Amino acid sequence: MRFDIITLFPEMFDAVTKYGITSRAIGKKLYEVYCWNPRDYTTDVHKTVDDRPYGGGPGMVMLIEPLESAILDAKVVNAGKVIHLSPVGKALTHEKALSLSKEQGLILLASRYEGVDQRLIDTQVDEEISIGDYVLSGGELPAMVLMDAIIRLLPGALGDADSAIEDSFANGLLDCPHYTRPEVYKEQSVPEVLLSGNHAKIKQWRLKQSLFKTMTKRADLLANRLLTKEESRLLVALKQEQDSHNEKV
Ligand code: SAM
Repeated sequence: MRFDIITLFPEMFDAVTKYGITSRAIGKKLYEVYCWNPRDYTTDVHKTVDDRPYGGGPGMVMLIEPLESAILDAKVVNAGKVIHLSPVGKALTHEKALSLSKEQGLILLASRYEGVDQRLIDTQVDEEISIGDYVLSGGELPAMVLMDAIIRLLPGALGDADSAIEDSFANGLLDCPHYTRPEVYKEQSVPEVLLSGNHAKIKQWRLKQSLFKTMTKRADLLANRLLTKEESRLLVALKQEQDSHNEKV
């Protein structure tokens, strides 16, 4: 997969390409990253990429010309859609990352200042994606969040040990709790079932814990999910356990 990033700060993307799973994945040639700096497309001595907003108000707006030239050059080598990272975009989800992981390439526009001249968005951008209901100083971190979420879903990016299949959201539920050595830490023991060696029981315990976490922390996920018979049974049991606990306190 090929990522072409439009950014004033190409060095920031070392955070993706040089560390951890995403670094190993680039080593395995599962994806490539190329950056296009809008400053390289300016014509004035100051390499200006922003100007004051029409209508007044605080902040600066990114100029259309350098961004458009950078995007058009990226489009010559990347036929993928152009995504603008923006707080006004649709919220990034696991499903979105999964569907984008099937693309051959993406062009990511990481903007700065108050944002981008709307005419560029209207003519060159296919989609806007937000990484959450808060505002960051620039689109580089959101672009890296999107890239990381996509890259770990590329076939071969994760070894068995860090497989994404059981991660939160992958099957519509939150992940179960995890434990490692020591078996007892400051009088807190690892749940006995995990030491039993009974794989069927461990699987059922993990599913129940996932359901419990999802029910208590993100009930909205359950509302949008078809439950298996086993999950429905466990969920009923969990609700009963919770009701009887509430009655006692
Ligand atoms: N004026 C914009 C607004 O209120 O929607 C915020 C601009 S922000 C300071 C600068 C850039 O950071 C944005 O254009 C976008 O590229 C990026 N950005 C900030 N927060 C983001 C978020 N939650 N998701 C995606 N991109 C974001």
